[in-house]
Amino acid sequence: MIPVKAYAAKSAASNLAPFNFERRDLREQDVLIEILFSGVCHSDVHQVRDEWGGSMYPMVPGHEIVGKVIKVGSGVTKFSPGQTAGVGVMVDSCRECKPCRQHMEQYCAEGMTGTYNGYERDKTTMAQGGYSTQIVCDERWVYHISDSLDLAGVAPLLCAGITTYSPLKYANVKTGDKVAVAGLGGLGHMAVKFAVAMGAEVTMLSTSPSKEADAKKLGAHHFVLSTDEGAMKKIESHFAVVLDAVSGNHDYEIYLKLLDVSGKLLVVGLPKDEPKLNPFELIKNRRCIIGSMIGGTVETQEMLDFCAEKNIVADVEVISMEYINEAYERMIRNDVKYRFVIDMASLK
Ligand code: NAP
Ligand code: ZN
Ligand code: ZN
Repeated sequence: MIPVKAYAAKSAASNLAPFNFERRDLREQDVLIEILFSGVCHSDVHQVRDEWGGSMYPMVPGHEIVGKVIKVGSGVTKFSPGQTAGVGVMVDSCRECKPCRQHMEQYCAEGMTGTYNGYERDKTTMAQGGYSTQIVCDERWVYHISDSLDLAGVAPLLCAGITTYSPLKYANVKTGDKVAVAGLGGLGHMAVKFAVAMGAEVTMLSTSPSKEADAKKLGAHHFVLSTDEGAMKKIESHFAVVLDAVSGNHDYEIYLKLLDVSGKLLVVGLPKDEPKLNPFELIKNRRCIIGSMIGGTVETQEMLDFCAEKNIVADVEVISMEYINEAYERMIRNDVKYRFVIDMASLK
């Protein structure tokens, strides 16, 4: 077994604190990674605080992982020691069902194996995430990372990046399309960068007036305060795509109304509420609501290669491990520009 240092939550009410545990010895297809940076996703906060129900403790969060390969199993073909590699939101799946065979492992019929907050496929070992010094993962769920990019800025691509890239691609966003992004946080700021890179005319929808200048710096062409009813009314039936990356409880209809004929509301934000839906707003303009969960293994590598080609990384605030509880509080207060990333050297 491989001893690692980590930070874990012991219950929904407790702060994250130092925690030691062991990773499994390498199987044939496994890669051992020394973690350099670990991004902090709002899903970490939702799960640590059991906002979705069913959380398992002790929980080592973290599913935006970048590091160096230090050892590989005898059957590994994709990686060798010394290479830079990443791990995202999943670490395994059944590998046999139709979605798995199509490399859409996130939609595995048996349920994907998450990087943390669940059991591995042996149904007894708890999967533990990236707020730790090392991780062991089957090579299918490990990605190549270009050394030309800033590695702290790459970490958030493994969740915030793929979660916004995948639905924008699925919606076939292309040059000249009018796209709106709701919620300027970790996911939202990546959605703006991707939509701009895909050639869209991008509008940021935010509840925070103070974020207008940043939205423009990120490449957004327009900024609309989503709490301003008059301004929202002016952009009704305007967009081909609205991507909803909001973490808190909110009304979906205010975004639905913005869609033009055959427009698509891409829902990736996961607040704990169960919103009402007015079917009259849905049939108007033949609107469509599409949910989307991260992205598959092949698409994740494609997204990382796209980022290397276009020089896209997240805007990050690098923190030490012991700052994590304060970082969670700031994330809840909307005070993050635009992703916290833990420098794992601070844990050694
Ligand atoms: P984040 O960095 O905290 O950003 C969320 C943003 O949403 C905030 O910055 C804020 O932006 C806006 N917001 C928050 N509360 C709001 C409210 N009540 N009404 C309207 N706007 C509000 O969070 P994140 O890490 O980007 O994650 C966003 C959501 O996506 C989370 O729920 C997370 O669990 C989910 N997620 C889903 C997937 C997936 O596979 N579908 C993957 C990862 C994360 P403004 O200040 O601009 O309004
Ligand atoms: Zn995430
Ligand atoms: Zn499967």
